[in-house]
Parts: sequence; structure tokens; C-alpha cells
Amino acid sequence: MEHVVEETFLEPNYDATQRVSALSGIQPELCYQCRKCTSGCPLTFAMDYYPDQIVRYLLLGLEEKVLSSATIWVCSSCETCTTRCPNDIDIAGLMDYLKQQAHARGLVDPRANLTYAFHEAFLSDIGRRGRIFETGLLQRYMLSSGAWKAKLKEGTFWDEIRLGLALWRRGRLPLRAHGIRRMSDLQRHFQKPMQSPEAKNSSVSS
Ligand code: SF4
Ligand code: SF4
Repeated sequence: MEHVVEETFLEPNYDATQRVSALSGIQPELCYQCRKCTSGCPLTFAMDYYPDQIVRYLLLGLEEKVLSSATIWVCSSCETCTTRCPNDIDIAGLMDYLKQQAHARGLVDPRANLTYAFHEAFLSDIGRRGRIFETGLLQRYMLSSGAWKAKLKEGTFWDEIRLGLALWRRGRLPLRAHGIRRMSDLQRHFQKPMQSPEAKNSSVSS
């Protein structure tokens, strides 16, 4: 990972963290940069900014830099950082919030295309039925990400089909989707974090 030290002096700007707190209840401004989150994170090798840097950038008001980072899509929500933070900052939850904001504002890093496609397919299933329909999820992911083309090119496409059939024979890939009861309750919770601050502000003022 390459770091470029910019000789720019920035003042704290709490606009972004205030939005984070208002929309998610998470308080990044409690961070005192001990870096315990980063030292425990198993995926820093693949990140462009470390978790503590994500928090620091938010405290400096560099929201777009954070939203367009690869880090938020590399994060696997393992929650090690949240567990280690001495200030009880839910950094894993913050990464989820940032993913939703990046999606809502069209700032998703192109390097995260595959992860983003899976994220979208997964959330779409949950939003529609309240649970995952694995067969449909895989189809949507393969088509929307273009992963099927890559697999055709590398000659592994038919291996995937054979694997799918083997899973289906063992009852692991159902052909019918099932939903949950009380979908309306779930959808109410589900829609809220998908709103961008702009959308939220306009719905409040209208
Ligand atoms: S562990 Fe918590 S306080 Fe320490 S740098 Fe990370 S977010 Fe900040
Ligand atoms: S939740 Fe994400 S940022 Fe936190 S330790 Fe796990 S992978 Fe790293």
C-alpha cells in the first residue's frame, strides 16, 4: 500500500461526523487515534486507507475521500475493530453506513465492482423477502458484476455450473424463494440508512 504525505494543514470539520451521528448513532468524534482498530484489522493489506485513517478523514471533513475509498468495500464487517476500540466506536457499523452513503451518492470506487455487485444483490434479496434466496442471488451477482464473462474467459464457467448443480442436488440451492412474515417492519428499518443526507433533509423539509 502506497502512502502519500500531503503537506496540507487541515482544521477539524465536524459536518460529516454530525451527519454520521444523526443517521447512524455512531460517534466518530470520540476517536483519539490510538490505532487499536487498525492494528487488529485482518484486511489492512488490501485497504487504501486504514480504519483509523477513515475516522480521521471524517473528522477533517474529507467525506468524499472516504466514500470513494476501496477500504469501505474491503471491510468484511468482522467487528474486530469495534471490539477493540476503547471508546466504543462501532467502526464496523461505520463502514456499513459509509457503504450505503457511497451507494446513495454514486461514489462507489470502481475497484470495488465485484464486492459492490454482491452487496447490491444481497441487500436486494433482503429488501424484497427478508431473507436470502441463494439461487437468485448467485444469478443476479454473476450477471450484474459481469463475473460470468471473466469465468468464461478463464475457462471456469462450466465448473461453476457443475458446482451449482451439485449443490442443487444436495438441496443447497433451492428453486423457490421464501419470504418472512412482517416484511413491512423490516422494510421500515431497511429504507432508513439507504437515504443520503440530502434525501433525508429534503424529506424532512417537504
Ligand atoms: S480504536 Fe477507536 S479510538 Fe482508537 S483509533 Fe480506532 S476508532 Fe479511534
Ligand atoms: S470490521 Fe472491517 S475494518 Fe473492522 S477489523 Fe473487520 S475488516 Fe477491519
